[in-house]
Amino acid sequence: MNIFSFTAHFGTEEDCRLHFKSLRDKEGVFCKGCQGQRHYWLVGKWSYQCKGCGFRTSLRSGTIMESSKLPFLVWYKTMFLMSCTKKGFSTNELQKQLGLKRYEPVWAMVHKLRKAMGNRDARYTLQDMVELDEGYFSVSSKEIERGKGTRGRGAKGKQKVAVMAESTVLEVTETGKQDRHVRYFKAKVLDSHQSEGINELVKECISEDSIVFTDKSTSYVDISDLVELHITEKSDAKTTKETLKWVHIAISNAKRTLLGNYHKIKRKYLQLYLNEFIYKLNRRYFGEKLFDRLVIANITGA
Ligand SMILES: [Zn+2]
Repeated sequence: MNIFSFTAHFGTEEDCRLHFKSLRDKEGVFCKGCQGQRHYWLVGKWSYQCKGCGFRTSLRSGTIMESSKLPFLVWYKTMFLMSCTKKGFSTNELQKQLGLKRYEPVWAMVHKLRKAMGNRDARYTLQDMVELDEGYFSVSSKEIERGKGTRGRGAKGKQKVAVMAESTVLEVTETGKQDRHVRYFKAKVLDSHQSEGINELVKECISEDSIVFTDKSTSYVDISDLVELHITEKSDAKTTKETLKWVHIAISNAKRTLLGNYHKIKRKYLQLYLNEFIYKLNRRYFGEKLFDRLVIANITGA
C-alpha cells in the first residue's frame, strides 16, 4: 500500500472505524461481563452490546487503543507509516508527519504498538533447527552511568541481547551444496550474565524437540537439557558465515537499523525497538498485508 491508496481507503475517521470494526468482528469480541462472544452492534454508538448480559464494549475497549484519546485516523496513519518502511520512524519524525502538537501521546501510541508487535510474536515458538547467539547493542550512556545497564563483556554502554533464528539446513540436490532456509526470528534483552537467563529464554522461545546451534560460550552449558540436541562450534569466521549465518545477519541489521533511526536508545526501551524490528523481519514477505496484520495486532495484542 502506498500513500495514495492509503488516503483513498482511509480518508476519514469513519473509514478507519469501519475497517477496524470489520477486522475486530473477524477476530471475535469477548464480553468483559460474561465472556460471551455474541453481540449486537449499536449503530451510531460505535459499541457492541452483549446478547447474554447486555454489557457494552466500545470499539476501542479491549484493544491497545483502549485508553488512548487519539482518533482512529491518527492511529491508522501511524500504523501505515510504521508498516510502509522496513526501517521505521523516530517518534519525533512521526509527530511531525502527523502534525500533532504534543509529543507524549505519540510516544505512548508508538510504544503500545511495539508492545503489541512483541505480544503477537510471543505466540510463536521456534522449531526444528535454531541458531542462537548474543549481540551487544549500544544504549544511551546516561542509563549506564546510573548503573542501570548491564555491562557486556566489559563494554561500556552496551546491552546484551539474545537473538534466535529458525534456520533449517537444506541441500540443493543438483549441486550437493548446503544452504540454510530461514523463517522466524526472536530477539530478547538479557537482564543478567547468568546462564539462567538463557535457560529461561530457551524454554520460553524454542520448542523442546529442536536442534540448537551456538558457539562455545559458557552461558550455554545447560541448553542440551532443554532441547533435543545442542550443537556448539567454536567462534570463528567459518561459524559466522555458516552455522550462525542468519542470527549474525539479523544482529548486524538490527544494530544498523536501530542506530540509524533512533540514535540513542534507553536500555529500558531497547526491547520495544527490537520488537518492531523483529516483527517486520518475521513478516518480510507480507508486502501490502503487513498493514492489516498490524491492525489485527492492535486488536488482539493488548
Ligand atoms: Zn456479556
